[in-house]
Amino acid sequence: MPDLTSLGWNDHFAKAYALWAKPGYVPGRVALEHNHVLRVLTESGEQLAEVSGRVKHEAAGRHEMPAVGDWVVLRLDEGGRCQICAVLPRTGRFARKSAGDWTEEQVVAANIDTVFLVSGLDGDFNPRRIERYLLLARDSGATPVVILNKADVADDVEEAIALVRTLDPDVPVLAISAADGRDFDALNVYLLPGKTVALLGSSGVGKSSIVNRLVGSKVLPTRSVRESDSRGRHASVHRQMIPLPGGALVIDTPGMRELQLWGTESGSADSFADISALAGGCRFRDCRHLKEPGCAVKTAAEEGTLDPARYDNFVKLCEERDELERRQGEKALLDQKRQSKIMGKALKSMQKTRGR
Ligand code: GDP
Ligand code: ZN
Repeated sequence: MPDLTSLGWNDHFAKAYALWAKPGYVPGRVALEHNHVLRVLTESGEQLAEVSGRVKHEAAGRHEMPAVGDWVVLRLDEGGRCQICAVLPRTGRFARKSAGDWTEEQVVAANIDTVFLVSGLDGDFNPRRIERYLLLARDSGATPVVILNKADVADDVEEAIALVRTLDPDVPVLAISAADGRDFDALNVYLLPGKTVALLGSSGVGKSSIVNRLVGSKVLPTRSVRESDSRGRHASVHRQMIPLPGGALVIDTPGMRELQLWGTESGSADSFADISALAGGCRFRDCRHLKEPGCAVKTAAEEGTLDPARYDNFVKLCEERDELERRQGEKALLDQKRQSKIMGKALKSMQKTRGR
């Protein structure tokens, strides 16, 4: 049976849980979510749990609902029913815009220590995409590590590594192969007992193959299996957290595969440190580096001292963020209107009852 530390428990969660520590309650970590039933790992084994009506009612939005990786408070009643009565504060999270409501955040994975940003060295290799993933990771509370998989079929591994280093000299880059297992040992420093690792990367780069090799058996269907077996595909729809033999926990969820940028990324300044540095030379302090006169960033891109592709990507990401902010602004306005309508009604009925 696992102890809490091996599931990722630490002082942060212990402190938050202290408010709940009463007989009948236990802490647990969400490993899988499927049709509103959550599989929760506790010290005394696995529990299937549902979210209590109160948590649902009091959640300010979907982002407050439990997600894979969350630490939750479980209440066990005598009938053996198990309810989630609180989500403990997260150390970080990966979120996406939920389908349907573009501006609502849905957490796809929580409390992650390290995120493996996986690319394939077989032609899929795209530094622009790695740039995006770095930006996403910055906001998640997790430490990013760039993983270049399929080193067995790469033309030039060193060149690819060097290219990633130009994007961010501080981020660790590892070239591995899930096919023959080369350099997998380099992953071990991130896979310490109780540490949680998530994988992020496009379909086909080898995330499932990496997880399978780390686990030591085929726990996830890989692409060829998925293609020939629709049941295999179904199995991977569950969001899951898998304990590794070495004691770490790995999260590989479909949600992680569909991540988009969310919110006003404070991370953009870190991911584009070179652009921030150049911006010091812009004529206007609030220069957006688009069409402003005297823009040092645009000039650098034109002169080639800043990679023009990197500049284009920067502009694209800024536009995406602006669009999102605009929509969030609209939503906030709508919420405000709705709120004042409700308040207005309440006020009117109060006045009515008083007048009587
Ligand atoms: P996912 O969609 O990211 O989970 O990718 P999969 O794990 O399903 O892998 C996609 C395809 O790439 C499969 O056909 C794998 O066999 C293959 N693949 C995965 N890792 C490697 C690798 O290191 N080298 C080579 N040559 N092929 C790999
Ligand atoms: Zn500028």
